[in-house]
Amino acid sequence: AHGLKKHFKTGGGMMGASGLIRAVDDVSLDIRRGETFAIVGESGCGKSTLARLLMRLLTPTEGDVTFDGVDMGALKGRDLTALRRDMQFIFQDPFSSLNPRMSVGKLIGEPLETHFPDMTAQQRRDKVAALLGRVGLRPEHAERYPHEFSGGQRQRIGIARALASAPKLVIGDEPVSALDVSVQAQVINLLGDLRDELGLTVVIIAHDLAVIRHMSDRVAVMYLGQIVEQGTVDTVFQHPRHPYTRALLSAIPVATYGQRVSQTALHGEMPSPANPPSGCRFHTRCPYAQDRCKTGAPALRLTGDGEDHVAACHFFEDIAAAEPVPGRAGA
Ligand code: SF4
Ligand code: MG
Repeated sequence: AHGLKKHFKTGGGMMGASGLIRAVDDVSLDIRRGETFAIVGESGCGKSTLARLLMRLLTPTEGDVTFDGVDMGALKGRDLTALRRDMQFIFQDPFSSLNPRMSVGKLIGEPLETHFPDMTAQQRRDKVAALLGRVGLRPEHAERYPHEFSGGQRQRIGIARALASAPKLVIGDEPVSALDVSVQAQVINLLGDLRDELGLTVVIIAHDLAVIRHMSDRVAVMYLGQIVEQGTVDTVFQHPRHPYTRALLSAIPVATYGQRVSQTALHGEMPSPANPPSGCRFHTRCPYAQDRCKTGAPALRLTGDGEDHVAACHFFEDIAAAEPVPGRAGA
């Protein structure tokens, strides 16, 4: 994806004002085949919009998305349908994304019918049974309805439905955040296994860095429509450079992460994307902000810490020198 922007027009609000919501503002990403790429940020940072832009469920205001060497913006009709088969979405809420009046067999059989119209009914039934097995459910579950399943099982059904078209890329928008913590790890492990077995590329959207730690290769941290830090998961966890990333990491309980990464606390609410702060968009909440941050927008710069690790902060060298990440040499 290159230079992606998505601006929504807002019309006639309470004050009669209209304006632009800069939900995604100049984002470039290069997701590699077979990897798990995480996009992390607070709700409202634009990560769900970005995911929909990547899948062309939304049309970008500016910029382009290339998938397997093909510019998605140039595709129409049948070509776009074929591409849709290769990219599937897993929704946050398995409760609302499954039609309650359809049996599980129908829910999974429907995309099979759409994408493989030559399949016989028997082939379809066999395929549904195989997909159920793949996600840890049983063939007889095909006869049942979504309300008969737990949240975790429903998300497994959602994943089986996404896999029905034999996609190359699966994008999960907070796929486990509606689930009990005890079930989250199971679903995350399932996605990891499927990636390895099927050679999938997986993009995971999350608001919580802890959730993506063990299943992702690389991560992009988003704030107010922009990527503020990106790198391998190991590098970002060991050498967080952007104050926002440090704050997100410090919010992870010690029990989950083993030790506190940084003491940076996050103050205040995220400003509205309709009216982002000048300069560095994080300056209204950043404990290290200086005058320069109010006027000059920092660009993503290589940190030198690890492969392609970049952060967008004028002062990340000084901050790391003054406040090394506790217990981590050379951070
Ligand atoms: Fe904070 Fe300034 Fe860095 Fe932005 S550029 S993250 S405000 S120190
Ligand atoms: Mg969202």
